[in-house]
Amino acid sequence: MTTLLETHGLTKRFDGLLAVDDLDLRVDEGEIFGLIGPNGSGKTTTLHLLTGFLRPTGGTVRYEGREVERLRPSVRASQGLVRTFQLTNVFFTFTALDNVRHTQHLHASDSVLSSIFQTPGYRAERRRLRARAHELLELVGLAPERRDVLAGNLSAGEQRRLEVAMALAADPRLLLLDEPASGLNIEETQELEGVVTELRDRGITVILVEHNMRMVLGLCTRIAVLNFGSKIADGTPAEISADESVVTAYLGA
Ligand code: ADP
Repeated sequence: MTTLLETHGLTKRFDGLLAVDDLDLRVDEGEIFGLIGPNGSGKTTTLHLLTGFLRPTGGTVRYEGREVERLRPSVRASQGLVRTFQLTNVFFTFTALDNVRHTQHLHASDSVLSSIFQTPGYRAERRRLRARAHELLELVGLAPERRDVLAGNLSAGEQRRLEVAMALAADPRLLLLDEPASGLNIEETQELEGVVTELRDRGITVILVEHNMRMVLGLCTRIAVLNFGSKIADGTPAEISADESVVTAYLGA
């Protein structure tokens, strides 16, 4: 099994508060890895540390064997370490397709000159990207029917799947999903679970930060549980559900 991402002693302090405390994580290629914990346990801070939106106070983040904790989010994304953003990146007055096309342009490496002069290579690349956008929307179940609907008119579940398609435009090797099921009903959550399984089948490794325990226990190969910034358990869904410290943390006892 190849290790894709690893943290050692990862720590983030906000003034007096240890939001993430000496965290060791290992995510192997091909996994759906769950990161769970009660509110305020440090999940979001960890996600920011992995993707580069926050710098750690201490410790390392290794991705593909290289230390990346000092690299900017855009550099990590260009290396395939990509996250979703809860609706903050979606333009509601754009269609689903235009949202994906827009994200593709953010990640595209076309030279400015080739876009100005519209060289044959540029036109071929545009065609390839358009076909790829359709393919990504199909993968998340939005194309062809919902492709030309304004994002603001999509259902909550469809918007969440659009976010996934937009993240896929960056060609992730490791995709971090930030509470993708929040606000979704059971049916929408199941559709999303189907999408996450499909990503795994296509070889994308997934880190799932999620409150919905049923989803996490059903999908993940391994799960790490945080409480007050520290990892209190790490194991398979069966091991995690049987772990007394996890039950205690969740019940607040
Ligand atoms: P979770 O995502 O598990 O709910 P967070 O990572 O958001 O937890 O927060 C962990 C702790 O760090 C909380 O006590 C929170 O109040 C604190 N925290 C998070 N971000 C900041 C910040 N920018 N400044 C100060 N404290 C923060």
